[in-house]
Amino acid sequence: MPVDLRANPIERIRVSGQRVTALRVAILELLQELGHASADQLILPARERLGSISLQAVYDSLGVLGKAGLIGRIEPAGSPALFELRVADNHHHLVCRSCGGVTDVDCAVGHAPCLAPISDLGYLVEEAEVTYWGVCPVCQTAPLGATGAGSLGPVN
Ligand SMILES: [Zn+2]
Ligand SMILES: [Zn+2]
Repeated sequence: MPVDLRANPIERIRVSGQRVTALRVAILELLQELGHASADQLILPARERLGSISLQAVYDSLGVLGKAGLIGRIEPAGSPALFELRVADNHHHLVCRSCGGVTDVDCAVGHAPCLAPISDLGYLVEEAEVTYWGVCPVCQTAPLGATGAGSLGPVN
């Protein structure tokens, strides 16, 4: 069942049966702001809020929140694991090849799995995880080479 994202982070953690800690709350708040973020992207703003926090502590909290079903994890090719608040709603992702930006896009059908394989080979298919690769609107209008690290190669 999708997590009620209207409930505040403290309430969400409490309802999940986990212990409420400042770092766990901060991570949920930061993901609310950032949409999708890696542990590396969370550590600096987490330190700004809470003082000295180790990367391991961030990973530990991400692990607890993930096991509790409060955050999801996606891993687009060539990207570190990204964490997000939207879980269990079968949404998909648009990923920009140029800047690496990740955007949610709702499932086309509204229920899982929204895509059926040509043959399920006897599998009971529960879910389809779709990543659409392309170039985001900002990068489409930016002068060539002006955005991103270019680590993913030239975009045509
Ligand atoms: Zn982009
Ligand atoms: Zn997402």
